[in-house]
Amino acid sequence: MTAADLRIPADLLPADGRFGSGPSKVPDGRLEGLAATGRSLIGTSHRQPPVKQLVGRVRAGLSELFALPEGYEVVLGNGGSIAFFSLATYALIRERSQQVVYGEFAKKFASEAQAAPWLGDPTIVSAPHGTLAVPVAEESVDVYAWTHNETSTGVMSPVLRPDGATADQLTLVDATSAAGGLPLDVRQSDVYYFAPQKSFASDGGLWVALMSPAAIARAEEIAASGRHIPAFFGLADAIKQSRQDQTVNTPAVATLWLMAEQIDWMNGAGGLDGMVVRTTASSTALYDWAEASSYASPFVAEPAHRSLVVGTIELDPAIDRGVVMDVLRANGIVDVDAYRGVGTNQLRIAMYPSVDAADVTALTQCIDHVVAHL
Ligand SMILES: *Cc1c(COP(=O)(O)O)cnc(C)c1O
Repeated sequence: MTAADLRIPADLLPADGRFGSGPSKVPDGRLEGLAATGRSLIGTSHRQPPVKQLVGRVRAGLSELFALPEGYEVVLGNGGSIAFFSLATYALIRERSQQVVYGEFAKKFASEAQAAPWLGDPTIVSAPHGTLAVPVAEESVDVYAWTHNETSTGVMSPVLRPDGATADQLTLVDATSAAGGLPLDVRQSDVYYFAPQKSFASDGGLWVALMSPAAIARAEEIAASGRHIPAFFGLADAIKQSRQDQTVNTPAVATLWLMAEQIDWMNGAGGLDGMVVRTTASSTALYDWAEASSYASPFVAEPAHRSLVVGTIELDPAIDRGVVMDVLRANGIVDVDAYRGVGTNQLRIAMYPSVDAADVTALTQCIDHVVAHL
């Protein structure tokens, strides 16, 4: 018998074993709901009312979820969050940015900004994996970029304009895994951007940005400046198309439909506050278990920085994490792998709003069971 043959008793198993950080759990019934749209939506033109109404539903639902102030707009396009890094480099940074790097996703954006020959070298404010860095006021930058939730390390950040930042400096917040699961005062961000495959329980490939009037003005200013911007990264066009409930090029209609259903569910279940209650319950269950465990501990030392939506747990070096993951997977519990290169012997557990706290508790009991039987 190998470890993977270990059966976890059925009464310990979570009702749903998907704990991946993205693509993530899609609630039961959604795919059946998608199929039930029949011939009315999938397979029809994105320039006609059925799909435009769907885009409109996503935009209105997000405006409600994030209580968008007057003048903020929901803009969307193809490519996902990493494409948005490029888009920001072409279409939002005027001369120079400050990049706050405390994990692998922020590092990718910083590298893009560093490599862009039309921009000055960014200032990098960084902190080691498992800790937090925050933006600091700096006169010579026109963008501050940071991550609301570093999915690679399980560290979350406040979303606050740096003390002393000026009105002409934009705040760009990568909220790919945070949006919908962490508290937010959207007025603190000029561009709060994300993708649908995390808290929004849909598929990847789309970026969505909540943009302030100042950010929209910046995109229009740079578009008119003569800088070469490849069409795919044309944010000013994306703004125009979004106002018409369209995208510049063809979107994945099923992705939009799944996202719209999740947004409706969120708004009907207490909105963002209601979602934060859920992610707080899940993450409290996870971290309390790890604190009490003899062989597991939270990777993030500072409790206030431990993410409500992506938890990272270090295991005692004597435990083979690969075997634990194999056994869990063989029992239907999937995708608890650490991000590559983060931690020494780590599991990473997504606790997006769709995940039930009871399932997180069940997961911890399953891990205890596996470790006890290795
Ligand atoms: C998942 C993730 C990304 C990458 O998103 P894609 O849509 O795959 O490009 C970027 N940033 C953060 C914080 C993420 O969690």
